[in-house]
Amino acid sequence: MDKKILVVEDEKAIADILDFNLKKEGYTVVCAYDGEEGLRAALEDKPDLILLDVMLPKLDGFEVCKSVRKTSNVPIIMLTAREEEVDKILGLELGADDYITKPFSMRELMARIKANVRRGAAPVAEVQEQSDENRLVFGNIVINLRSLDVSKNGTKLELTPREFDLIKFLATQPNQVFSREVLMENVWKYDYYGDLRTVDVTVRRLREKLEDDPANPVRIVTRRGAGYMFAD
Ligand code: CA
Repeated sequence: MDKKILVVEDEKAIADILDFNLKKEGYTVVCAYDGEEGLRAALEDKPDLILLDVMLPKLDGFEVCKSVRKTSNVPIIMLTAREEEVDKILGLELGADDYITKPFSMRELMARIKANVRRGAAPVAEVQEQSDENRLVFGNIVINLRSLDVSKNGTKLELTPREFDLIKFLATQPNQVFSREVLMENVWKYDYYGDLRTVDVTVRRLREKLEDDPANPVRIVTRRGAGYMFAD
């Protein structure tokens, strides 16, 4: 089945270009032109990925992202026009998976969409081959590679697909330090487009959910100047 992309963008010209290029790549496209319409489409049309502009009438992209995240882990790429917005996306616990700044190159945007959509779909087929090692247990944390769940003290954690991919990558290779570049390449599947700060933000979000004391993490540990590792 074709992957469905929801484009939330009030500038008709940009929405049209995105619509055209996405369809050319074989995606099904739904466009929404303000935040309220976008939020409704996000919940009703069940897209496989959302491209979400920040400055929108009625409800801005930050609000839309937060609302969508209450019920869905769909990959979200924010479109931003200004550096202040980037700081806000990175600084807030919005739950966006990625962002891209305007003006963007269509090629770069398509590469990111492809990486995010593929990631959304990939893990299931991949883990079904692993029959014996479906569960990774680290004290009170259990990572189930088949059901793609992580639980802490028996309670399931609500993780986005990206957060799950990151913990899976780190926890299947415990006590090994990975640089942010290596994580970007292996978890985000970007070769050189990504902003390394998105790695830090995702690590921070994971810690908030996973660690007893996120300010003093004992599972996802920082090795200064080297990167991150999962301590078993
Ligand atoms: Ca706009």
